[in-house]
Amino acid sequence: MFSYRHAFHAGNHADVLKHTVLIATLEHLLEKDTALTVVDTHAGAGLYRLDGDYAGTSGEAADGVLRLLAAKQEAAPVAAAALAQGPAKKPAAKTAVAPDAPLAPAIQSYLDLIRAFNPNGGSRVYPGSPFITHHLLREHDKLKLFELHPTDARTLDANIAQLEAGRQIAVLREDGFGSATKFLPPPSRRALVLCDPSYEMKTDYGRVLDLIGESLKRFATGTYAVWYPIIPRPEAHDLPRRLKTMATKAGKSWLHATLTVKSSKILTTVTGDQKRPGLPASGMFLINPPYTLKGRLQPALEQLKVLLAQDRHAAFSLDRGG
Ligand code: SAM
Repeated sequence: MFSYRHAFHAGNHADVLKHTVLIATLEHLLEKDTALTVVDTHAGAGLYRLDGDYAGTSGEAADGVLRLLAAKQEAAPVAAAALAQGPAKKPAAKTAVAPDAPLAPAIQSYLDLIRAFNPNGGSRVYPGSPFITHHLLREHDKLKLFELHPTDARTLDANIAQLEAGRQIAVLREDGFGSATKFLPPPSRRALVLCDPSYEMKTDYGRVLDLIGESLKRFATGTYAVWYPIIPRPEAHDLPRRLKTMATKAGKSWLHATLTVKSSKILTTVTGDQKRPGLPASGMFLINPPYTLKGRLQPALEQLKVLLAQDRHAAFSLDRGG
């Protein structure tokens, strides 16, 4: 346990999907004046350096947020170069984003927010979900952050202290799976719960389901957003299916977005070594999503598929029910 450090992955394609959906969801929820409570069950360190050792070692942001920031200036070449790298057998038809095409509003909001953390230009700082959320919240909204990793919890504490947000933000060094429901329902009866575990242990999948099931019992009208990796593992495959069943049984609406950037096949090199592809895809499953979210995400996912493609297997899906 606790070998996962989000600093290696900050700004990768999975963060792009998760944070684009988070921002679009918050933008809608914050249109109403009534106070909103956001519960972030797995908060991470809050802020990351993209030019630091962790991100530099993994290089994952280069195929995520950094591509998008570059795409704003030169959309077509970045996408075309990305597609050319893959083992494409067929021509990549209908995949280019026209150079002068405006970015979808949800991507634009995401990039504007990242830029706000880099006021002098560049992309040194990447905000994690606690800082993204705080950036959008109003003074009367509340933010509850759970983080268990000793180092990341300390870093999160120190980062949050700089905001001088007082009682608006609570940082809890507690198990987010076990303790998050204590904030439900919040006094204003409006809440978004973001559940973004590392899935280091396969029991995490079951714990997500327990948390969402218990949360719906306590607070049926809350908005719940679960991120999960799409990897060849039965628990990962079952998670969205089981969340869908849970939402449907409870009579709740749901939205399921996925983004694939490359094939999940293990490659064999010319020397016979096996090369794992790294995370090829991820998904966001929401219960009680804003009714505007599907329309907001559709054009964004169409563009993300092209801009973040690493081979011809790039794809997205967006389904709604309930
Ligand atoms: N939500 C963050 C973001 O978007 O910037 C990233 C979170 S990262 C994927 C998952 C985090 O959960 C890690 O920092 C890990 O240390 C932490 N964690 C693992 N198990 C936990 C638990 N049971 N309760 C709270 N945090 C946990």
